[in-house]
Amino acid sequence: MSDPHLSAADPTISELIHKEEQRQFDKVRLIPSENYVSRAVLEASGSVLSNKYSEGYAGKRYYEGQQFIDEVENLAVSRVKKLFGSDHVNVQPYSGSPANFAVYFAFCKPGDTVMGLGLPSGGHLTHGWPVSVTGSYFNAVQYGVRREDQRIDFDEVAKLAKENKPKIMWCGTTAYPRVVDYDRFAQIARDCGAILIADIAHISGLIAGGSHPSPVGKAEVITSTTHKTFRGPRGGMIMCDEKHAKAIDKAVFPGLQGGPHNSTTAGIAVAALEADTPAFKKYAHAIVENAKTFAEALMSHGFKLTTGGTDNHLILCDLTHQNVSGKIAAQALDRAGIECNYNSVPFDPRKPFDPSGIRIGTPAITSRGFGATEMKAIASWMAKVVAAPTDATLLARIAGEVSDMCHKFPAPGISLK
Ligand SMILES: *Cc1c(COP(=O)(O)O)cnc(C)c1O
Repeated sequence: MSDPHLSAADPTISELIHKEEQRQFDKVRLIPSENYVSRAVLEASGSVLSNKYSEGYAGKRYYEGQQFIDEVENLAVSRVKKLFGSDHVNVQPYSGSPANFAVYFAFCKPGDTVMGLGLPSGGHLTHGWPVSVTGSYFNAVQYGVRREDQRIDFDEVAKLAKENKPKIMWCGTTAYPRVVDYDRFAQIARDCGAILIADIAHISGLIAGGSHPSPVGKAEVITSTTHKTFRGPRGGMIMCDEKHAKAIDKAVFPGLQGGPHNSTTAGIAVAALEADTPAFKKYAHAIVENAKTFAEALMSHGFKLTTGGTDNHLILCDLTHQNVSGKIAAQALDRAGIECNYNSVPFDPRKPFDPSGIRIGTPAITSRGFGATEMKAIASWMAKVVAAPTDATLLARIAGEVSDMCHKFPAPGISLK
């Protein structure tokens, strides 16, 4: 991206940004929470809207001069509402974690009982894991997945809910390759009197595009990031039933935050417009299609996948049988131009800092237009790397092949060729 002012004012930062841009162009980016946003989103989120303070909500601000900011925020809200069909939307949370913390603040007092999927089973830190503030300020009860098939154990969810009567119950995942059954969760939450919160941070783009069922009408409150499959700027949003609108808005501001990041709000509005198109529906379906092809190809090379495959955008590989740790594999893959993250697998005997698995996903590579041929090529490279993670010659040769393939595909938001 050309940056005449930045390169003159601060050549060091300019150069680092250009290097990162080149890196994103040359590599196969498989981190499932990442993507390539459009140039339109980048322009909106890097705009003068960042100069403006707007504490409050449209029509009820604490600062003057909101003539255009109010319109921007109203547009973001109405577009997200239309896209998901939810009663009420708040686009001000700074990111996914603050959105979740606002939900706690809206419904819980410190010490209240809450329930969520444990981190080792694919849940998020903010769903009550002990190292998170959410696990230390609240009495967090964690459910998990079954040992035999690594799927969410609904018998356990129902039993724990009945015993503990949580105020809120989280359903939503960060490393779980299967569809979330919102009907089952809604039934369990109703039976124990909990408010069901769906955290769709990873899959909001899939839901908007119709390739994953929607929790709207099943979970009373829904939180999300805006920068994962949704393909917007880094931010967060909360959707809810009308009856919770006041509590959610109050929890975000003045409960937790000061002024909203207006440039991000504009970026969310642009992303929501982009997501409301046939092209985005095609994209959302292609993400899942690619993940399924990728999973099959990996299994044909002997990879063992948690749950035996995928229904969504991500794949969790358990490398135990390949005799290589997740960290060694992820580092070797990165040297070969294939970027992923090491990840615990359910019931992992190894420590989180060097666990047994790697987590990969198709949102970013699908944004570049990769299809079945590329999925098979990447799986085959991955098999070679995992079999010889210390073979520097091999890793360098694969990095060259990866880069050659990447150069055949444009990347949204990046002007390199
Ligand atoms: C990514 C993620 C979050 C946190 O989002 P940040 O923007 O990184 O704070 C919350 N919940 C889930 C399920 C996530 O995957």
